[in-house]
Amino acid sequence: MIHSISLNVRDSEGFTVNAKAGRMKSDKLLEEIKSKIDIVEIISDYVQLKKAGQNYKGLCPFHAEKTPSFMASQVKQIFHCFGCGAGGDVVSFLMKHENLSFPDALQYLAQKTGIELRDIHFVKDKSSGKRERIMRLNEEAMRFFMKKRIASSLRRIIRSRLPEDLSLTK
Ligand SMILES: [Zn+2]
Repeated sequence: MIHSISLNVRDSEGFTVNAKAGRMKSDKLLEEIKSKIDIVEIISDYVQLKKAGQNYKGLCPFHAEKTPSFMASQVKQIFHCFGCGAGGDVVSFLMKHENLSFPDALQYLAQKTGIELRDIHFVKDKSSGKRERIMRLNEEAMRFFMKKRIASSLRRIIRSRLPEDLSLTK
């Protein structure tokens, strides 16, 4: 089972990357970084891995266990635990293990691979930004209340100037 981190990120977070040379999608950058690193090497910083056939085996860092059920595949560049079901690519490993956000995990890996991320910063797509949505909602709410206030004061003025029997009250 391969968890596609780039898809997850684009859907729920809407991250894009602003590069100096222009706009670059974060998944493109992710692919470039991932092509330069080895998941086994990165995970070895945290978990003692032993070669077992094509894969590497170790004690899972995500649940307590005495016999290794945590596997890392150098060929597929993914990890998977048969004990607790944790799995994914190198970015999701770092996010999960080090409690990093997606940009922080990328930044960490970029540093390891020597890719320059200095002129790159992460922005959320405006259309999918939570903050943006809240701001828009606030604006709408404000407009709504202003309209209501104007309408009710207009009604009050009209009512006060109309004879009793023609008043707008029901
Ligand atoms: Zn596990």
